Amino acid sequence: MPQWSQPAPSEIRPLEVAGTATGTAYTRPRVLPGVTPSAARRSTVFRGGLLVTQDPSRRVVRGDLLVRDGRVEGVGDVGHVPADEEVDASAYAIVPGFVNTHTHVAMSPLRAIADDRDLSGFLERLFAVDARRTESDVEAGAAQGIAEMLLSGTTSFLDLYYMEDAVARAVERLGIRGFLGWAVLDPALTTQKGIPVENARAFIGRWKGRARVTPLAAPQGVYVCSEETWLQTRDLARATDTLCHFHLSETRREVHELQEKVGDRPAAWLDRIGFLGPGMVAAHGVWLTRREIETLARRKVGIAHCASSNLKLAVGGVAPVVELREAGVRVGLGTDSVASNNSLSMLREMHVAGLLQKHHRWDAGALPAQTLLDLATVEGAHLVGRGADLGSLEVGKQADLVLVRLDHPTLTPARPEAIVSHLAYSASEEAVDSVYVAGECVVRHRTLVREPWANIHAAAEQAADALWSS
Ligand SMILES: [Zn+2]
Repeated sequence: MPQWSQPAPSEIRPLEVAGTATGTAYTRPRVLPGVTPSAARRSTVFRGGLLVTQDPSRRVVRGDLLVRDGRVEGVGDVGHVPADEEVDASAYAIVPGFVNTHTHVAMSPLRAIADDRDLSGFLERLFAVDARRTESDVEAGAAQGIAEMLLSGTTSFLDLYYMEDAVARAVERLGIRGFLGWAVLDPALTTQKGIPVENARAFIGRWKGRARVTPLAAPQGVYVCSEETWLQTRDLARATDTLCHFHLSETRREVHELQEKVGDRPAAWLDRIGFLGPGMVAAHGVWLTRREIETLARRKVGIAHCASSNLKLAVGGVAPVVELREAGVRVGLGTDSVASNNSLSMLREMHVAGLLQKHHRWDAGALPAQTLLDLATVEGAHLVGRGADLGSLEVGKQADLVLVRLDHPTLTPARPEAIVSHLAYSASEEAVDSVYVAGECVVRHRTLVREPWANIHAAAEQAADALWSS
């Protein structure tokens, strides 16, 4: 069953476009005299939306949002400015696009392939399938996952996989922002052709400087990377001024095996060998000591917290999110792949992350709704190195935003003082109506704009047929 279907026409409430209401699901924007159609949507004004700004004072205000050339130019009452497109947003909350700080998007056709196993059983099944992957099934899987992310309000994601060129192509096809980490591990342990760190270097060279794709290198974890591999990857990140993303202390087994081998826990060892530094995002960070937390804070390493994945794989521990944040470590939320979640929805991830901390700590006030939304937006933006221009609705920032239906049952009552809570705890993906990346509408009334879902779906099912039979 396709996860996303287009709503029946009767269910669609059109965004009203000034002066051009025709009763169709979407009306063509008004083209101003002297403006060529291709440039017609360079500016958009959203009128009367409930703006969940995520600005430094976390204002929620009823007002307008003016977007020009991909960036936010006005927030609040923007007056009677001329714009190429005018959208009546009074029935919507306008929220910054979510930043998913850890996933393996190309694994999407593998949803449910290794359910109900612990991490070692899970990896055993996944490695067998991984060895058979092709560029075309990686691209088909990435497109499937990107569709799921866009349709649930995610506008940026941080990925870790190989064959990332295929993922990058899917990113550019569908218009999301991809921070794409090429998986690096020891040459003796990889199914990649050639040397992984050199493959990462070449990948960065091919894709650096693109608008929607940000390439980087991604050491897979201490269980497959030697000291030399870690340091080569660090040097590559420094030389190319790129991020570095890796798995860290996900299970006790990982910690104990490294301790037996080198006498240190993973974070402590990575610091001892001189690997850790700014511009790094570690996924999981479940099994950390207080000293390791202090080390991560001192080295300015961020943590992508993957609550659903940790729970489903039964890693046993709970990431010390509160202590990490108290120590000054930036924390974002990650879905991990659909093989271990089994969703890419950041709405679900906020909900689960909040409940996990509250329950574990016997503290209903732990990770309150506002903090959860922060992790999913502004904090995630900082993790991917883009805190200055992603993650909030502020003048000068990129116009990555989501229109969420306020008349949806899961957002009722649509009171301004409740909207953050609804987003963190109850909002359904089905309430995500339209999504913009850099001012470009990439989802309109739950329909992908750039490519029909039917094509993406068919390719993903074909990829799954080949992979599941292994
Ligand atoms: Zn992962």
